[in-house]
Amino acid sequence: MRDSCDLHVHTTLSDGTFTPAQIVKKAVELGLRAVAITDHDTVAGIGQSLEAAAGTGLEIIPGIEMSADIDAGELHMLGYFMDYKSGPLLKELEDCCNIRTQRIYKIVERLEKMGINIRSDEVFNEANGIAVGRPHVARVMLKKGYIKNTSEAFRKYIGEKCPAYVGKKKTTPEKVIEIIRKAGGMAGIAHPGSINRDDLIVRLIDRGLQFIEAYHPDHSTSIEKHYKKMAERKGLLVTGGSDFHGINKQSVSLGSKTVPYSTVEEIKRRLKL
Ligand code: AMP
Ligand code: FE
Ligand code: FE
Ligand code: ZN
Repeated sequence: MRDSCDLHVHTTLSDGTFTPAQIVKKAVELGLRAVAITDHDTVAGIGQSLEAAAGTGLEIIPGIEMSADIDAGELHMLGYFMDYKSGPLLKELEDCCNIRTQRIYKIVERLEKMGINIRSDEVFNEANGIAVGRPHVARVMLKKGYIKNTSEAFRKYIGEKCPAYVGKKKTTPEKVIEIIRKAGGMAGIAHPGSINRDDLIVRLIDRGLQFIEAYHPDHSTSIEKHYKKMAERKGLLVTGGSDFHGINKQSVSLGSKTVPYSTVEEIKRRLKL
């Protein structure tokens, strides 16, 4: 079996467009050895992925991607091998998803003021999962002909500095690390290149940060090298994945960024699994 592992994958339970079963089927076809299911703010896709993968030889790693607020905007954080049935983790994620739902009404209201008439129930139908977000809003706008592609929605309407942007739940990076680690998982930073804040990464090491995702489609080879070196210097583990979102991010395919299985073994070793 091939050695490649994709440690960053979204399903329909958040803003991916492949169901857990479709992810598993595709990963098996590609001959991947392991896939980490890292939906935004929900672990609801993990059980389904484990079921679908049973007997296939594909290893499913329970994961999560959570957002934290930092002065420069939003920091995305990853967790691996948490107990995805842990009460405090589920409570936190439920809060995040409730806030995601409430925020859709506000976004729809703001869009209406900009002459975009979409309804919140259309967004919820588009999501059909647990963690509803801006990509679902963008897809409804696209279907109704208000934009030519989803990136136009982010550029003009719902991107961070745009008029219809509404933020999510306010959590600190320290709190996210604590939640993931208390649930028995390993905590790290997703695509650190998107925030470019090495000072923050260094500060978070003292607070329990354990890895950085050096290999990501948004990172150039020199950025990859930079984070790999930084990880070596600081004793952090280096992870990577495709951040696959299905047709919500067409430039990226499943398994297009991977790490060897030895990375998974090292995560397990450090977690004493
Ligand atoms: P949310 O979690 O609702 O704030 O939405 C953020 C998600 O939108 C990210 O995880 C990406 O999947 C997607 N996204 C962010 N920026 C863009 C963009 N410029 N074009 C398309 N999708 C984007
Ligand atoms: Fe996403
Ligand atoms: Fe992300
Ligand atoms: Zn992601």
